[in-house]
Amino acid sequence: MTTAQQIADAVRAGERSASEVLEEHLAVIDEREGDVHAFNLVMRDEARAAAVAVDAGDRTGALAGVPVALKDNLCTRGIPTTCSSRILEGWRPPYDATVVARLAAAGAVFVGKTNLDEFAMGSSTENSAFGPTRNPHDLDRVPGGSSGGSAAAVAAGFAPLALGSDTGGSIRQPAALCGVVGLKPTYGLVSRYGLVAFASSLDQIGPFAATVADAALLLEVIAGHDPLDSTSLDRPLPPLVSGLGDGVEGLRVGVLTELVHAEGIAPDVRRRVEAAAEALADAGAKVDEASVPAASFGLSAYYLIAPAEASSNLARYDGVRYGLRVDAENTAEMNAATRTAGFGPEVKRRIMLGTYALSAGYYDAYYGKAQQVRTLIIRDFAAAYDSFDVLLCPTSPTTAFRLGDKTADPMSMYLNDVCTIPSNLAGDPAISVPFGAGDDGLPVGVQLLGPALSEATLLRTAAVLEGALQ
Ligand code: GLN
Repeated sequence: MTTAQQIADAVRAGERSASEVLEEHLAVIDEREGDVHAFNLVMRDEARAAAVAVDAGDRTGALAGVPVALKDNLCTRGIPTTCSSRILEGWRPPYDATVVARLAAAGAVFVGKTNLDEFAMGSSTENSAFGPTRNPHDLDRVPGGSSGGSAAAVAAGFAPLALGSDTGGSIRQPAALCGVVGLKPTYGLVSRYGLVAFASSLDQIGPFAATVADAALLLEVIAGHDPLDSTSLDRPLPPLVSGLGDGVEGLRVGVLTELVHAEGIAPDVRRRVEAAAEALADAGAKVDEASVPAASFGLSAYYLIAPAEASSNLARYDGVRYGLRVDAENTAEMNAATRTAGFGPEVKRRIMLGTYALSAGYYDAYYGKAQQVRTLIIRDFAAAYDSFDVLLCPTSPTTAFRLGDKTADPMSMYLNDVCTIPSNLAGDPAISVPFGAGDDGLPVGVQLLGPALSEATLLRTAAVLEGALQ
């Protein structure tokens, strides 16, 4: 495996050309994309032109010549951005997302737009209007979701780096199921300008990579203040890559009881978390049991707050401003016909749940109550971080499940997010790092959580786990 860092170094040194690197990756895509379906669009021509520009010396930067895959809910100027929904059919964004612009400025070569659950609602990528993505480790299994295409693209070797978005686990859970690294940054660390909004108080963009160092490298390029996003933090970014080898001597690690023992956590996954705790202790960390009592209520609060925000955000798809229009007698009927034809069943379910939770008479009992629970979660995490630097728990309750296994029962699908949702509600960062395999031989990811802006600590802790496996 060639890492992004190695590619960038080799291209910079003139040992390899960006075009050569790109053709190698396109060849892997040609070989396996028909089975995996990681992409909604492979950007061959644009990528070739970008690579030629790198080789001509016209494009330089930390990622010059490195192939990168973009989740298809990130706006790319002039290039279809579908959110894997029919309702955006034919729409081409008039601008680039800030993360896309930053990657372009760093010399990255975009290979394509990756498949997702429609509008990032789901945990398996089966909710895509364009058909599911398959797990490169076993084509009968899901890659996780909603950023399943990005996770699969990295796992299959289509690109060493990819971007995803994470509202309730959509970077970390597919990373775990596909055996790659995935990080959800602190709320506000990465600009969301040009990310199609799902639930604005929760959405964050973050990196996928095959190694911890590559995830750190990608995050360094995309993070930082952006005046175009009013939730963007205006703070200097702590260096991420340089401290990766610093180890965990003396670090206080808490094994997060409520999530390690949550309903549905498979014994083989729990054993990998225990093995990770041991590996960290062996490396000098002080490992103890930690409790975040309100984390148990995260899932219930999330499935009110996220649909409520989604129902509001998705009101803009009205048949006038974007993509699809189904004509009818008058405007109201056109709106309804367009939305009926354009949205898939899960998106409709979320809109109905959200509008219900926000409606007069129910607002206090549902949305208001969920917000109170969210405050408790924030407080309980803050209390835990008085005693611990990092918390450890599973990323996903199980290894990758079979396609079709959970599509008939939305609740069983939602239960996948039990361990990832709490850090979205708290606004804190979290990383999933591969840590061995389950009984079925499929990858298991373990999750590290930390307080706001602790990305450097999470990454160096993850680096210790990565090293312990080798
Ligand atoms: N699986 C969760 C959901 O369906 C999280 C999705 C996400 O993080 N975008 O809402």
